[in-house]
Order: sequence, then structure tokens, then C-alpha cells
Amino acid sequence: MSLPELQEEMLLLSEKPYRAKQLYDWMHVKLARGYEEMSNLPKSLKEKCGQLFTYTALEQVKVQESRVDGTRKFLFALADGNLVESVWMRYKHGNSVCISSQVGCRMGCRFCASAIDGWERNLLPSEMLDQVYAITRLTGERVSNVVVMGTGEPLDNYDNLLCFIRMLTDENGLHISQRNITVSTCGIVPKIRALAGEGLQITLALSLHAPTDEKRRALMPIAREYSLDELMEVCAYYFEKTGRRITFEYSLAEGVNDAKEDVRELTKLIKPLNCHVNLIPINPVKERDFVQSGKAAIEVFKNKLEKNGINVTIRREMGRDIDGACGQLRRGYIAKQS
Ligand code: SAH
Repeated sequence: MSLPELQEEMLLLSEKPYRAKQLYDWMHVKLARGYEEMSNLPKSLKEKCGQLFTYTALEQVKVQESRVDGTRKFLFALADGNLVESVWMRYKHGNSVCISSQVGCRMGCRFCASAIDGWERNLLPSEMLDQVYAITRLTGERVSNVVVMGTGEPLDNYDNLLCFIRMLTDENGLHISQRNITVSTCGIVPKIRALAGEGLQITLALSLHAPTDEKRRALMPIAREYSLDELMEVCAYYFEKTGRRITFEYSLAEGVNDAKEDVRELTKLIKPLNCHVNLIPINPVKERDFVQSGKAAIEVFKNKLEKNGINVTIRREMGRDIDGACGQLRRGYIAKQS
């Protein structure tokens, strides 16, 4: 519930209006795990709330810490027993959390471990929020950046995503800056168009991964629904409406999308846009046969793009030793249990 919704509920329960703010503060600033922690609230109110409303608090099932870079990967259990994973990364400019937006995913990208078992359900706004809250509680450190790049397609869970973003950036809650939130999508065109009109200052990351329709269709089923032309047009629209530069994610797989000709086609495709390319060495997934492009090949790809006047960075790999790639921790854990 947003603060106004909670205020409405307090009114209906004939409680004092300021109780809503107190409750909200316990949940979204003090990050309480349940009503029992809310020491300045009357027992009767806490009991009433306990009966009327579900309180989301994720259970940590497993945590893995990278010996290389301190990245931590958390596996959380939801109230219905489903599992989601979230990653905590420490950067010079602050701590970043990567959250999941769905249990599983139905987008079916060929290289992604989250796609293998398909989609189970959408996450509630509270289940997205509590990934950030739980990690803040467990690390004892403030989170400054949130990326919605874990399991799931965020724009396939649009309303809950929007509610999550509004609450995460609410001045009465953690008040994380919208500019420090990135939403990554495989490219659901009508949803990108809608998002452009929400008046948000978040960063949109678009999973491109291939410079032609033909190549993209072989990697990402969504590319059969929307062409690259449509995608580029909506990206231009997003920039025009929000003033926010688009980030294109491009995961490099050897012999798949890392050739000279790919650079040329990619340049042609995105040059007209105000954008930035993030090159990601593809993470090999056990069940899939993609091979990461070599370090040298990635450098060459980057340099060529740069020469063509494209802003480009290579994503630093973090947590490779702890199943850092999308969906691998959850998948590995479920496989071991069964
Ligand atoms: N569904 C959203 C967000 C989740 S995936 C999306 O498609 O953008 C986050 C990013 O990781 C996407 O760019 C996705 O294509 C990429 N990705 C998935 N599996 C990967 C892998 N094995 N190696 C490298 N990148 C991968």
C-alpha cells in the first residue's frame, strides 16, 4: 500500500490519521520485518493489521559471497515457497542491488538461465521492495542504486513494477533517486511507449544482443513480435519524452554476434540515437552452448564501436565465481533439492 492508501485504511479502521505515517515509516524507512518490531504502535492496532493485511518479509535461504569482488548473491523464499534471487554489488559510487521482477520468465531468450523453466508468477510490489529492504538489513549498508535486471521481464509485470518504483523513490520511504534506478527490458514495444509517458527519470536498458532482425530472432523470441525498426523508433520516443539516454545491452557470444560485420550493422542501427552501449561478456549457462567472446575480441568490438562514434563500456564482470549470471543460483538450488 502506498502512504495515501494506508491513510485511507486507517480512516476506515477509525484509527488516528498519523498512525498511517508511523506504520509506513516502520515498513519503508526502519525496514521492520513484522508488526512486532513496531514499538510505538498500540498492540490493538498491530493485531488488527495482522488480521487484515499480509506483511511481506522474505526469508534468506542462501547467500554466496564472491571471494574475488565481495559481490553477494542472495536466494530468498517468498511466502508461497517460491524462490527469487537478488545480487548485491559494491561499487566506488555506492552499493547496487539487482532485483528479480518475476518468478521465472516467459520471454525465452536462448542464452538465459531464467528462461529454462518458464514463468511461474509475477512478483508483488512488496516482494520487489523487500529484496532491497532485506539486503539493506542483512548487509547493514545503504543501497544507492537498484537495477531491475534479475530474473523476469519487468515490463511483463508493468503495474507492479510502476508501484515498486514509486514506493522505492517515495520521499517517505527509502527515497532512492529515480536516476539511480535502471529497468532492463527485452523490448516490449507498447510497454516502453507507456513507460515513456509515466514522467519518470529512470534509466531504460534495452537488451539488444544482435544488430539485425534475423540474428535477434534466433536469440530472442520477442524479436519475432517487434522489429528492430519499431524498437529503435520507440527508443527515440523514450528519449524525446524523458530526456534519458537509452542503454543498449549487448552480450557477446563467440561466433554469434561479435564479428566485424556486427559492429558495422550495430553502428548503422543505433547511431541516430542518443545512447550508450554496455558490452557484456556472455555468461556461459550450463544448459546452453554459448561461448563467451575472448577478451581481445571484446576489446576490438569496443574499439571499433568507439571509432564509429558510439559511447560504449564493457561491463565489469562481478560474482562469476558465485553463479552470477541470470537465474543460475535459483536453478542450481532447485535442482539440488529435487
Ligand atoms: N528481462 C529483462 C531483464 C532481465 S535479464 C531483459 O531482458 O532485459 C538482464 C540482462 O541480462 C539482459 O540484458 C539479458 O539479456 C542478459 N542476460 C541473460 N542471460 C545472460 C547470459 N547468460 N549472459 C549475459 N547476459 C545475459
